[in-house]
Amino acid sequence: MRNNNVWQRACGLTRTVVESVDFDEGAEAVVVSVRPAARARQRCGRCGRRSSRYDRGEGRRRWRALDLGSTKVFLEADTPRVRCRVHGPTVVQVPWARHGAWHTRDFDDTAAWLAVRTSKTAVCELLRVAWRTVGSIIARVNADIDAAVDRLDGLRRIGIDEISYKRGQRYLIVIVDHDTGRLVWAEPGRDTATLHRFFDALGPERCAQITHVSADMAVWIAKAVAERVPNAMRCADAFHVVAWAMEALDVERRRAWNAAAGRRRTGTGRYRVTGGGDSLRIRRARYALWKNNDDLTERQRHQLDWIAKTDPRLWRAYLLKEGLRYVFAVKGDEGKQALDRWIGWARRSRLPAFVELQQRITANRTAIDATLECGMSNALIESTNTKIRLLTRVAFGFHGPQPLIALAMLALGGYPPRLPQN
Ligand SMILES: [Zn+2]
Repeated sequence: MRNNNVWQRACGLTRTVVESVDFDEGAEAVVVSVRPAARARQRCGRCGRRSSRYDRGEGRRRWRALDLGSTKVFLEADTPRVRCRVHGPTVVQVPWARHGAWHTRDFDDTAAWLAVRTSKTAVCELLRVAWRTVGSIIARVNADIDAAVDRLDGLRRIGIDEISYKRGQRYLIVIVDHDTGRLVWAEPGRDTATLHRFFDALGPERCAQITHVSADMAVWIAKAVAERVPNAMRCADAFHVVAWAMEALDVERRRAWNAAAGRRRTGTGRYRVTGGGDSLRIRRARYALWKNNDDLTERQRHQLDWIAKTDPRLWRAYLLKEGLRYVFAVKGDEGKQALDRWIGWARRSRLPAFVELQQRITANRTAIDATLECGMSNALIESTNTKIRLLTRVAFGFHGPQPLIALAMLALGGYPPRLPQN
């Protein structure tokens, strides 16, 4: 085998001719000079249509390729422009990289695969790239998948959710398929107009196929849903209803903490826990109060026992939160009966936050009953919700919302990135 062919194989290149190989001392990297094979030449970078040459374009440039061992590798080639009938003067297509990319396709695919399966640090250190670069890479990889698959096909029962991804009121609307647990659509926004774009993408025929829509009780969601999928059953998202109970519980927890001994106001106006005292114990019990009862550690159980003995009011609030969770765990008629009892219990609880919550739940009773009847898996919805919220933290450092959406789609959309194959 000729040397250049060995390099072609080593770099996993197809439809590409290797012209020469050098070591660039300055860049401490192997530089492989290449050109597209005859049948891959002079094609438009956007559509792949064979076109006539326009000009030299940017001249010669480099693409980062996968390392050989621990040595960096770059591909180097001319990038003339062609005159596409549709796109006008456009940089030529190259077989080894996506249009507009500074990394090869294999590098992109490897980075995306790692980003979904490992940590931020692992990707950046292994591939020696900045996290922000990984963001642009996964946006490209996901755009390819988006172009090849129809995520909106066969939707019957969907969940609409809003996710805050950055401080300062930045939100995404995400749509989840309740039957598969997949994330199917996401866009920045938190308004009726953005939601309409989802229904536009779905189209009237597929809108008519939607039987259930679960969402929180926000008015802007209700408006779009009533207009575009009027026949679908509207369900209250159990995840949000339980979150309301958590908020009510938090009101009581703060009350207990403020009333407890061992707490002193500091100069900055904040409270500081001094020494031991009950306030410290309440603070430490915070996670025990929030957690699912089944997931508690031994230590957290003790913390709850202590609250039960020393603060009956906070304990009552905790039991009310767990009671509401139980309603959605048993579902069906049993769930509805449990909810009747829960409403009576909350009304008489003498805890203002829960009295208010009970009114809110009564006002949304039809949608909550629909949730209890339709038999959707709350566990699935809750786990997808939790995963998306975790990803918003992983995506910190990305530029804009698109890389976050891409990461969420690659991780939860049912079409994961693939490693390069030769
Ligand atoms: Zn074109």
